[in-house]
Amino acid sequence: MKLVPYLVIALATITSTTDWQALGKQWWAHVQFLADDRLEGRGMGSAGFEQAASYMAQQFEAAGLAPAGTDGFRQPIDFDVVQIDQPQCSLGLLRDGNAEPLKLGEDAVIGVNAHTAEHIEAPLVFAGYGLRVPEMKYDDLAGQDVRGKIVVYLTGGPANMPGPIKAHFQSGEERSKTLLKAGAVGTIALQNPRSAEVPWSRVAAGSLLPRMQMSHPGPRTLPSLPISITFNPAHAQELFAGSGHSFEEILADADGDKPLPHFPLMVKVQARVAVKRSQVKSENVAGVLTGSDPALRNEYVIVSAHLDHLGIGEPVHGDRIYNGAMDDASGDASLIEIARAMRDAKAAPKRSILFLSVTGEEKGELGSAYFAAHPTVKGRIVADINMDMYLPLFPLKYLEVQGLGESTLGDDIRVVASAAGVEVQADKEPEHNRFIRSDQYSFIKKGVPALAFKFGYVPGTPEEKTFKAWYSERYHGPADDLSQPVDLVAAAQFNNILERLVLRVADADKRPEWKADSFFRRFAR
Ligand SMILES: [Zn+2]
Repeated sequence: MKLVPYLVIALATITSTTDWQALGKQWWAHVQFLADDRLEGRGMGSAGFEQAASYMAQQFEAAGLAPAGTDGFRQPIDFDVVQIDQPQCSLGLLRDGNAEPLKLGEDAVIGVNAHTAEHIEAPLVFAGYGLRVPEMKYDDLAGQDVRGKIVVYLTGGPANMPGPIKAHFQSGEERSKTLLKAGAVGTIALQNPRSAEVPWSRVAAGSLLPRMQMSHPGPRTLPSLPISITFNPAHAQELFAGSGHSFEEILADADGDKPLPHFPLMVKVQARVAVKRSQVKSENVAGVLTGSDPALRNEYVIVSAHLDHLGIGEPVHGDRIYNGAMDDASGDASLIEIARAMRDAKAAPKRSILFLSVTGEEKGELGSAYFAAHPTVKGRIVADINMDMYLPLFPLKYLEVQGLGESTLGDDIRVVASAAGVEVQADKEPEHNRFIRSDQYSFIKKGVPALAFKFGYVPGTPEEKTFKAWYSERYHGPADDLSQPVDLVAAAQFNNILERLVLRVADADKRPEWKADSFFRRFAR
């Protein structure tokens, strides 16, 4: 009983001597460098990205990390670039032989890839959520012939399907695998406005950015669908005219957790697609703190963030630079600060800790996928702790953890956060699929337990408003820049919690494991 007050005093002493403000400023200085206009939004292949990569390498070295790339701290990767040439494209509906032109950018946008067809004309079928999940005995394609057709689907999934399953089967990779197998030639995605993160204007602007693929993706990579279209939900009714169903009715069914109907649509799509192709080199940046235990040092705990952002794009209020201060300069700054704090504390963890700043996240988690397929370290990767726009916009009282219930890493973050007086929350918005929407998923698919984070809040509070407004006003827009309000003290406290988490995992007797009932356990060999 006497230990308790003693412990409280001890902890209070530690926290009262920590100058969070100073640590926060140190963290912010890295964000300021990486998200400065001079770095051009860190688009892959740009001089700005190269400066960012040099900065990370220098900072890793200054923090005492050893180079862990294939060329010093760097791991160069070749990418093929495809960018839509929108003025040369056309999109229209064919109804009873009559052509109805659509306005690209306003009615719909075309997503291109290396396999995009130059010309396509195909009938449409509405297939609910467009999902086929054998283990849930759920099949939106059942009884439908989608061969040669474009599958129109609503984003999301049935309410009774567990979040991780829904998320996994909604990933681009799984969708094209299933639909290609079924013989479909394309998709039209209809975003449920209820779960839209950004306004349509930003979807349209994003579609004009270059798309990338690894030049040497490896033999097991599947081709993509010949065409993928995203339709503006505000105009989606045009697709349903004459079908006996309305888009409104489908949204009402989805929002009321009722099963969605499946039916042919009375229109065909006609598309002509022109693209510009090029090549780009980019790289991951990796540094290692080698473990102190002769046996365990061959096991690696990865701490990751992504270095690329959207670069220069469509202007919004005259600003063309997509700085990506939170997305994800914040995470790179945390990588540096965590490495530096470990050096200052003379940390000697048993396992090795690999600090990894990856490229190509915004293009589909490409740099992390490349690293997971071609690790630069010999040994076993046992965990990935990923930081991608964790959003330190208000004081750190709650920490939302993606993957909390999936592996023993969830137990670790609970212990570490509660010691810091921070309450852990599970993902409050599983419909946003965040657990599979950043680099941790590249490692999860290789069987590696992982976590990702967001600052948490209690629904109905001003913090919720701040959090949601950030998405609608700044996410993937030029306003994610250095002029936004950020809580530096909270960011420093987050870094400290992450440092403790990583050290705890690196020092544990046993390596992290998936929970017996985790969906993601299937990827572990
Ligand atoms: Zn992003």
